[in-house]
Amino acid sequence: MRFLDEVHPLTKTNKLSSGYINRAMEILKQQHPEIGGLYCCTMGGSLTFPQANGPQWMQIVHDGSDHWVLVAKGFSQPNYVLVYDSMAGSNWRSKHILSCMSSLLKTPKKEMTYVIKTCQWQGNGFDCGVFVIAFATSLANGQDPALLLYDPHELRNHLDNCITSGELSPFPSTLCRVKRTRKELVVSESVFCHCRRTAYMLPSREWKMIECEQFMEWFHTMCIDNFPVNENDPWLCKVCKS
Ligand SMILES: [Zn+2]
Ligand SMILES: [Zn+2]
Repeated sequence: MRFLDEVHPLTKTNKLSSGYINRAMEILKQQHPEIGGLYCCTMGGSLTFPQANGPQWMQIVHDGSDHWVLVAKGFSQPNYVLVYDSMAGSNWRSKHILSCMSSLLKTPKKEMTYVIKTCQWQGNGFDCGVFVIAFATSLANGQDPALLLYDPHELRNHLDNCITSGELSPFPSTLCRVKRTRKELVVSESVFCHCRRTAYMLPSREWKMIECEQFMEWFHTMCIDNFPVNENDPWLCKVCKS
């Protein structure tokens, strides 16, 4: 029998499985229990991350296709969710990751504002998981990953030693002396419903949205308990009804 969450050994070029990513986050959580988030990453697949606790939190999130990204809050720029993506281009907008970020953040505001950090880019198609663990370890140890230049040839060796010993220490890096030409982007995304998620939804009935005609706010079928029999009927949310 194979477990979905198996921790596959690291090779020179394999992509990291969710089992491996979870093991790394588990170690970080043990070493830094004060940091919120660090949930089992497979919850991202069903967009069901709970709200992250505490002034500082981080989470490694899968983009729903083939890529790992780190999202974090409270480490710098406290008003924003920080996105560390080793492949982030200037038009970064992963709907799946944005939805995961919104459920982790659960802001009472109408928008979630985030910053695409200008961190180091991976030089190949398979190192996103390795970079994302390096970024998370730096953040947890009080370093800003956006200011660091990691040694790509040392990352896998270092990671392998860390996972084997059960202790994650900062990855070999130097301070990035040249200012990266890409600019940090600050972007806002609307959020809705009691769950405060983005408008992105999974293709199933529970995710269908209905608008409160007084509030002009949208709610998921799964997040309300008075869904109208006829969905074209005018509908009021709990707050407006009482
Ligand atoms: Zn909802
Ligand atoms: Zn309402």
